[in-house]
Amino acid sequence: THILGIESSCDDTAAAILRVTDTGPIVLSSVVVGQTGLHKDYGGVVPEIAARAHVERVDHCIEDALDQASLSLTEIDAIAATAGPGLIGGVLSGLMSAKALASALGKPLIAVNHLAGHALTPRLTDQIAYPYLMLLVSGGHCQFLVVHAHDDFTRLGGTIDDAPGEAFDKVAKLLGLPQPGGPSVQALAEKGSAAAFQLPRPLLDRPGCDMSFSGLKTAVLRARDAVVTQHGGLPEQHRADLCCAFQTAVTDVLAEKSRRALVTYLDLDPSQPVLAVAGGVAANTQIRAKLESISAEMNVRFIAPPLSLCTDNAAMIAYAGYAQFQHDQTAEMTVSARPRWPLDTISAPLLGSGK
Ligand code: ATP
Ligand code: FE
Repeated sequence: THILGIESSCDDTAAAILRVTDTGPIVLSSVVVGQTGLHKDYGGVVPEIAARAHVERVDHCIEDALDQASLSLTEIDAIAATAGPGLIGGVLSGLMSAKALASALGKPLIAVNHLAGHALTPRLTDQIAYPYLMLLVSGGHCQFLVVHAHDDFTRLGGTIDDAPGEAFDKVAKLLGLPQPGGPSVQALAEKGSAAAFQLPRPLLDRPGCDMSFSGLKTAVLRARDAVVTQHGGLPEQHRADLCCAFQTAVTDVLAEKSRRALVTYLDLDPSQPVLAVAGGVAANTQIRAKLESISAEMNVRFIAPPLSLCTDNAAMIAYAGYAQFQHDQTAEMTVSARPRWPLDTISAPLLGSGK
């Protein structure tokens, strides 16, 4: 089986070809075209610019993905596209291309939830069985999910305000570092010392798996302003120290909340002790290392996909699409894009016209 996946929910246009045989899934190609240069003057992703760039690039991405896989469109069995959640204009451009191709070729269309794509990635990379505990930690989301099946998720908790990726991006902006913030904060943090600044660990004193990151960002702002007042600017060492203190605070919160989520998860179902991570922030080396050591302490297997499959990509969309295809969960041509689409409500709109 060959699935074409298309992703366009934020600022990456992506297409991928997945082959699934008896021995499992293989990513034949995964093309990702970013847009950071386009938005750099605006301090964030501008939805209109993103949507136009997706329209301009999506066909090219699909052609490249087919070329790299040495396949022609006629050899594709189904077309899977992100139908939400995300920026509506972007989602629409990918979904429209998928609809056009599906109807021209007479092949099934599959409407994929972007978060399901992230959450199912450990099955693509490590072929693990259900259930498993997933920490989905990205630019727009942060939640603990028990993944029971490709369309069955239980949320154990999550952020009550910003996502960590958003916090990394805002902190980078505060400190004058390039976007996306995650990689630039991480790079500078390596030269800093976390002990130089005392930053809060929000909600750590409260029970449960809920998290909060917006106060942390504000604390970085205050610390920066104090340094600027004292030194008449932001010396490079202070900037590195702030990056390190911030990254360490995020790591501590994610680690302690993961430990609690694992306790809850193992209590519900001890059959498969696995903690998996996905989403762009799961690319962070310090966060990965800490989650790995927490898992080891608890005798839990830790699974982190390779970096290229942690951030947005279409291979994960093709894989989630394949899982739906196996269950005949194809979409009508009238299926609509959904800017908001929580994972725990995923089953209903997969089949129908999405209301
Ligand atoms: P969502 O999936 O929630 O819709 P998104 O698709 O924008 O959001 P991803 O592509 O999964 O998110 O991840 C992008 C985010 O990951 C950005 O906020 C970026 O700063 C962050 N990120 C990327 N690399 C790192 C890193 N090494 N450390 C921390 N954060 C990182
Ligand atoms: Fe994403």
